[in-house]
Amino acid sequence: MYSVKEIYYTLQGEGQHTGRPAVFLRFSGCNLWSGREKDRETAICRFCDTDFRGVNGVGGGKYSTAQDLVQKVILNWPKTKRNIAPYVICTGGEPLLQLDKDLIDEFHRKSFEIGIETNGTIRAPENIDWICVSPKASSILKQTSGNEIKLVYPQIEKSAAPHLFQELDFDYFFLQPLDDDNLKLNTKASIEYCLKNPQWKLSIQSHKILGLP
Ligand code: SF4
Repeated sequence: MYSVKEIYYTLQGEGQHTGRPAVFLRFSGCNLWSGREKDRETAICRFCDTDFRGVNGVGGGKYSTAQDLVQKVILNWPKTKRNIAPYVICTGGEPLLQLDKDLIDEFHRKSFEIGIETNGTIRAPENIDWICVSPKASSILKQTSGNEIKLVYPQIEKSAAPHLFQELDFDYFFLQPLDDDNLKLNTKASIEYCLKNPQWKLSIQSHKILGLP
């Protein structure tokens, strides 16, 4: 059984695949916050900007089989004359609480490329095509390799300082300004860090600027 908050088609707004059309499959639930405002102060991750509670979004629900869920995702991918491989981004919440071999195999059977956006506290199963890890301070990072690391910056705790991640086995390293009341200052700090440390690139949440979901 898969618990899904919502499924929608849009452009990826962040990181290396910015601008790429994708179906977003948002799973319910996260292991670093309950999603309830009353728990935010005591959560491990306290700056979340996503509603991942429940199954009440567009396309959300409980899916009893991988086939059912993949069928629903397929309905969101446009039919085109050219055969463009469909792309699904599994996100959350924390997608690795639910993404399993059955679902990965079923997506691949239907020719999907699979991306995930994970907080990195759970090891990813085999055969995911694009792994984006966004480490959170005060959590234990278990997924220490992948395609891109996308670090929200700055995080107050020293355990999320960028230099602690720079030797990990990723192809791309992004800093993404923390979107709170200090977004302007956080963006400035991120730009300065990238300019001083060119291993890191700036990732902007372009979907927010463009008004995309
Ligand atoms: S780990 Fe990600 S989904 Fe979970 S609370 Fe933090 S930002 Fe939100």
